[in-house]
Amino acid sequence: MTLSELKELESTSVMSSYARLPVEFVRGEGARLWDEQGNEYLDFLCGISVTNLGHCHPRVVAAVREQVGRLMHTSNLFYTEPGMRLAARLSAASLGGKVFFCNSGAEANEAAIKLVRKARRGGDLVVVHGAFHGRTYGALSATPQEAKQAPFAPLVPGFRVVAPEPGALTAAVDERTAAVFLEPVQGESGVNPLSDELLQAARAACDAHGAALVFDEVQTGMGRTGSLWAYEQTGVVPDAITVAKALGGGLPIGALITGPRLADVFVPGDHGSTFAAGPVVAAAALAALEVTDDPALLARVIDLGHTLAAGLQRLPHVSSVRGRGLMLACELDVPAGDLVRHALLEQRLVLNATGPATVRLLPPLTIGHDEVEEALTRLSAALDAAKDK
Ligand code: PLP
Repeated sequence: MTLSELKELESTSVMSSYARLPVEFVRGEGARLWDEQGNEYLDFLCGISVTNLGHCHPRVVAAVREQVGRLMHTSNLFYTEPGMRLAARLSAASLGGKVFFCNSGAEANEAAIKLVRKARRGGDLVVVHGAFHGRTYGALSATPQEAKQAPFAPLVPGFRVVAPEPGALTAAVDERTAAVFLEPVQGESGVNPLSDELLQAARAACDAHGAALVFDEVQTGMGRTGSLWAYEQTGVVPDAITVAKALGGGLPIGALITGPRLADVFVPGDHGSTFAAGPVVAAAALAALEVTDDPALLARVIDLGHTLAAGLQRLPHVSSVRGRGLMLACELDVPAGDLVRHALLEQRLVLNATGPATVRLLPPLTIGHDEVEEALTRLSAALDAAKDK
């Protein structure tokens, strides 16, 4: 099918909730993607931090192939091994409590919202400006962005929004607070790391009032910032984290992982999901977690993140660079939308814009130094073209 045929099908048959760029990808391997005409692209977006190990990582592909021909689905009315093993491994590699599985980041946050509300009945949830926690009703209610929320009012009650500042956050937490939800690095609002002081203030306020501290690690988790979970670099240990995106190595799975305090809040009947941690996605996630939870790989993420950030800083039309590990964003003096289009269509470099002048880079954690240099060369040319537009 040609691209124009796909566009025609989309216009007649698909609800228009996405603004797609005019490229059809048909194959991926490592940091590379190919379109239907055989053009090769360098992927510095990773399906928005999903294919963190590169496209079709051999360990993930092997695990899926092995499982998919044996057993695909039984439901959570029965036992299957991959999900149980995945839960044990996730818990051991993070907060030491228990795991609830689901299928996406928004669902992981829905589970977290229900969990903390059950732990403190009727309690408020405190979130900060700039947050993005997903698009289902609970997660959207925790996402204080007018354009995303307004058409869908009324939202879920009981969410309080404060500035991402220690004083404001501390003042908002009291004995009626069920939880504070924070992204250690805000992703969708443009890769804004929250300060360690803010995270520490949140921890202290939650401790003082018996509230839960939940970190949304949907985008920052699975090695993206140079540690398996971003919280490990902050000195603050939350009571729960939500994870999705890269967890399945490219397949859809989400998880709410707790520490011991919240591990036994849910009882049978409280929450559930038909597909959650089915054997195929759980096998994929186990493989992805085993590859990612490797000190050598995580050290490389830090190293390559420094190299990439320094290279970006030297490019024309880049006024500043921010982020952690391989989760980076640049402020530009050219329109980010134009740059993303030029980068994709002329330079065959995949990026995305998170604001009018902000471009985000989420390359595979497995990328090489030479691919970082190649991306910088392509980006430099795209910046020049965007300036001339
Ligand atoms: N939380 C964060 C921090 C995210 O970045 C996202 C998606 O971008 C979500 C939640 C929602 O995840 P999903 O799109 O899988 O529902």
